[in-house]
Amino acid sequence: MKFKSDDSLNDVPDLIESIAREKGLSRRDFMKFCTGMAALLSLPATFIPKIAEAMTGKKPYLVWLEFQDCAGDTEALLRATKPTVGDIILDIFSVDYHETIMAPAGDQATKSLMDVVNNHKGEYFVVVEGAIPMADDGVYCCIGGKSSVDIAREVCGSAAAVLAVGTCSAYGGLPAASPNPTGAVSVSEVVPGATVINLPGCPVNVENLTACIVHYLTFGRLPQVDKFKRPLFAYGKRIHDNCERRGHFDAGQYVQKWGDEAHRQGWCLYEMGCKGPETYHNCPTVKYNEGTSWPVQAGHGCIGCAEPNFWDSMGPIYKRLPNVPGFGVEKTADKVGAGLAVATAAGLALHGIGKAVSSKKEDKE
Ligand code: SF4
Repeated sequence: MKFKSDDSLNDVPDLIESIAREKGLSRRDFMKFCTGMAALLSLPATFIPKIAEAMTGKKPYLVWLEFQDCAGDTEALLRATKPTVGDIILDIFSVDYHETIMAPAGDQATKSLMDVVNNHKGEYFVVVEGAIPMADDGVYCCIGGKSSVDIAREVCGSAAAVLAVGTCSAYGGLPAASPNPTGAVSVSEVVPGATVINLPGCPVNVENLTACIVHYLTFGRLPQVDKFKRPLFAYGKRIHDNCERRGHFDAGQYVQKWGDEAHRQGWCLYEMGCKGPETYHNCPTVKYNEGTSWPVQAGHGCIGCAEPNFWDSMGPIYKRLPNVPGFGVEKTADKVGAGLAVATAAGLALHGIGKAVSSKKEDKE
């Protein structure tokens, strides 16, 4: 069943029902999936039938490469609840190669990969998990007798689009942290001419990966990205701006020690090294494991894993961000009323950030 733009939205239930049945899903589950994708991509409800329809037809080919990684992104893919995003991806695509979950091995597996590359140039998608080591001719990561550098160039170079999932494939991640002994780099650095979208995070949020694919299938192109090639729908806002502990940050209420009363009360984790004020990601709104929770909700500060070179530039993990002096981080803080400023001054001093605020004031003067 096809939905045309002049069809009445009253026909949508039938369309959803028919596609859901085709996929072996309940109407409710499939509707939930399409609605969730529309919301994540900030699309109005009128796009739901288009999204549903994009899930039908010939399955595009997808190959999943793993290089210098911990397989955390694959784990994330397989750990969702029903209907799993993994189910949907495996249903939408013909997943012809995924080293971790495929049955064939050795030459048989390599043949599956090369059949897609040779027979479907410009038509298939590649998901890359892990960094690519360039030092010593790429000897630090070889699969089937080939270096990951050569595999990435060969496979990604002819793809319709490459989705670099996780921070390692997006920026080099942990393998690229100083002193980077293997010369690890991102996919974009190895295949600069490929159409790459970065989905950093440790691990990638599979909802964002699915939304990118759904966007491509619905509109024939990848979503709009920022300067780090990250989709704006997922990385357009700071964690700090959507964090449920933000009220405590603004009120100067900070956890000082793991397990203290403030920690038990769910106060702000800024003093414990939270990198949320400098990290762009939709963790607080989408969360992980089908919206169950995310690190800050669980009581741990953000480690900034969606930002380039976060291991080297944002660490140590438990050290307070040096350039985020309390209210000073917020432009709007300057507009905070004098009464509130006086009321919170004691709190700020108590938490040891009064000094930072004073320095800022001195700088201004
Ligand atoms: S500093 Fe961290 S815990 Fe505090 S409001 Fe910002 S993101 Fe949330």
